[in-house]
Amino acid sequence: TGITAQTSPPTERSEALFTRARTVTPGGVNSPVRAFKSVGGTPRFIREAHGAYLTDADGTRFIDYIGSWGPMILGHDHPAVREAISDALQYGTSFGAPGEREVELAELVTRLTHTDKVRFTSSGTEATMSALRLARGFTGRKLIVKFRGNYHGHADGLLVEAGSGLMTNLDGGLGAAAPSSAGVPEEYAALTLVSEYNDPQGLDTLMAERGAEVAAVIFEPVVGNAGVLIPTPEFLEALHRVQNAGALLIADEVMTGFRLSLNGATGRLGLRPDLICWGKIIGGGLPVGAYGGRAEVMDFVSPQGPVYQAGTLSGNPLAMAAGLATLRTLEADPDLYTRLETYTTRLSDGLKTLAAEAGVPVSVNQIGSMLTPFFQDAPHGSVRSYTDAARSDTRAFAAWFQGLLSRGIYWAPSQFESIFVSAAHTGVELDATLQAVRAALADLN
Ligand code: PLP
Repeated sequence: TGITAQTSPPTERSEALFTRARTVTPGGVNSPVRAFKSVGGTPRFIREAHGAYLTDADGTRFIDYIGSWGPMILGHDHPAVREAISDALQYGTSFGAPGEREVELAELVTRLTHTDKVRFTSSGTEATMSALRLARGFTGRKLIVKFRGNYHGHADGLLVEAGSGLMTNLDGGLGAAAPSSAGVPEEYAALTLVSEYNDPQGLDTLMAERGAEVAAVIFEPVVGNAGVLIPTPEFLEALHRVQNAGALLIADEVMTGFRLSLNGATGRLGLRPDLICWGKIIGGGLPVGAYGGRAEVMDFVSPQGPVYQAGTLSGNPLAMAAGLATLRTLEADPDLYTRLETYTTRLSDGLKTLAAEAGVPVSVNQIGSMLTPFFQDAPHGSVRSYTDAARSDTRAFAAWFQGLLSRGIYWAPSQFESIFVSAAHTGVELDATLQAVRAALADLN
């Protein structure tokens, strides 16, 4: 693929750290995608991050398009967020008792998202897991429906045909599906029905057959975890029809919340979910998740109601401070989302033009500041399901990824992920990125 050792920056320190890490941590990482398994090469151990840039252990600077997988919408080390954390730090790091910042962040989140009540957790996984328990407690039903290739964190019942680690075994009959992970009992997976994203008829058929048993339908309102997939209006209508069957509609906005608009994909696409899950941006780079909705449903959560859910570090003052500073900065700058989208559209247009010039088949999906180039020969915007996405040439993607990395661009290390543009990305980064994109595409020939 023409990537030569000479053009690549040094990786000795990352390699040494990776060797040590593998001795004491499974696979050397604390979350699998960080290991670069699907693209090969040495995962870069990151020393620091400021604005739009990451610096690795060997001192190489990269333009960062991961943004910690979504949270860093303002860019790394944003002054308002850093100051809020330092200020909170003076008063202690964890109380295990309620504090003022939790109230403030709950007021802000509910106001911006038109929900009544919210409960904070420490991760997106806890948020979706708890929202499902709440839906089951509220409806008295057992089944949940999810969509193939949607990822909702790593709770047992949700690791079914999930994200990039998929299986496509549908032999068990309508909607039945296999676990995506060892250690998830088939009995758990049997309570999760799976439907295809952007297939309104498939969902209608499933609901006609099993709807009375379905507690909730959970979905990514814009998918990031199969690469970017954008829902069709017909699919969104079918999603809302599940509410007529008495099932709760749960929008998993862990990735899209406060990213696609101040009211997430829900606001942008005009959705009416019963519950919403958040994570990533609402913690401003510290560990936070949350779920919320109307009072009638949320009041089923303990100690008000019978559905138990708790957390030692839930509502942590430093995390609340970082989340508050991030959301307040987003709210105070009404043009920010337009700027993010303009940058990302230029990147998307540049990618399309350069790929066409290089004769490399690429199909681009983009919405707001989320973007995936699928390495396959299909019209732009036509990749709509995991099945579509899975037709991509992952080897071509991997070679392109390495080409970018060796030129100082840190793209998501998997074909089946979105990238995330931040407010710290400017024209300088855009030009440098497009130059690297051009060279990396040329390498493929
Ligand atoms: N839901 C979605 C849509 C996500 O993208 C993720 C993480 O990437 C999660 C849930 C899980 O969140 P966490 O990794 O904080 O547990």
